[in-house]
Amino acid sequence: MDATTNCVLPRYQVVRDEAACTGCAQCVRSCANGVHRLRKDPERIAINPRACVNCQRCVVFCPELALTIRPWPQVGTGSSTWTAEAMDDIAKQAQTGGVLLSSMGTPAPYPIYWDHLLLNASQVTNPSIDPLREPMETRVFLGSRPEILKINERERRVVEPLPPQLKLDVPIMFSAMSFGSISLNAQKALALAAAELGTFFNVGEGGMHRDLEPFADHAFAQVASGRFGVDAHYLNTAAAIEIKIGQGAKPGIGGHLPGEKISAEVSRTRMIPEGSDAISPAPHHDIYSIEDLRQLIFSI
Ligand code: SF4
Ligand code: SF4
Repeated sequence: MDATTNCVLPRYQVVRDEAACTGCAQCVRSCANGVHRLRKDPERIAINPRACVNCQRCVVFCPELALTIRPWPQVGTGSSTWTAEAMDDIAKQAQTGGVLLSSMGTPAPYPIYWDHLLLNASQVTNPSIDPLREPMETRVFLGSRPEILKINERERRVVEPLPPQLKLDVPIMFSAMSFGSISLNAQKALALAAAELGTFFNVGEGGMHRDLEPFADHAFAQVASGRFGVDAHYLNTAAAIEIKIGQGAKPGIGGHLPGEKISAEVSRTRMIPEGSDAISPAPHHDIYSIEDLRQLIFSI
């Protein structure tokens, strides 16, 4: 059964005000879902409302404001058990025989605790610091500590050299997002922000694009199961190395970027042949014990 004969009503109605429409076809170019289609014979713009997701892009790009998107009149909101969304999900899974996967968290309305986190440091000192008048120190160091800190009291400096440390001006780092899962521009934005804030970004498992090397002092290089982009230069360039163990943020078990979706630039950065799939299983297939992990750390 295809999308036009699946007996499921569209969610949205796409209404064009024919009196206002000039036929400029901006809506055809604006819609990523192919809802508006230019027809030659007779010359007019046809609409496929089943593909509309109510993103409102065509509405705002229409120079004549001739478009309106409305809920489809006969589609109800369901009941508290059978919500419209639940019925939609079941219909989609029945049509495709697959399970629904989505990244970027869950679409279910679970509480987002991060939004309720309040960092109130005013009570950590006595008397409490007034952050409007007194500077507050948020700097954090990551790294091992020496057993005993030897200090030259007269010169007021640490005598022993400290083990390697990472200095974070704010106690927040960007988590890993690879080139290929996000664009180079997005990665550059994270790199710039990390450098500006005095913290770190993480290039993820896709290797480090050469345009990011100027920000390497603020970069974590990730070593994941696919070992994409990992060589001596990569490991030596970054400020720190992270070994990714487990699934990370994406759904499913491991990652699979099909070869046809990988650009030449992404292939080059990942050090894989152009056109080949990039497969990164959730577990490392060479780590089955703590000794294996030790060997990987030693090799790095
Ligand atoms: S963008 Fe607006 S004016 Fe242009 S063809 Fe589409 S509906 Fe008509
Ligand atoms: S609202 Fe979005 S999905 Fe729907 S027709 Fe317009 S551009 Fe396409």
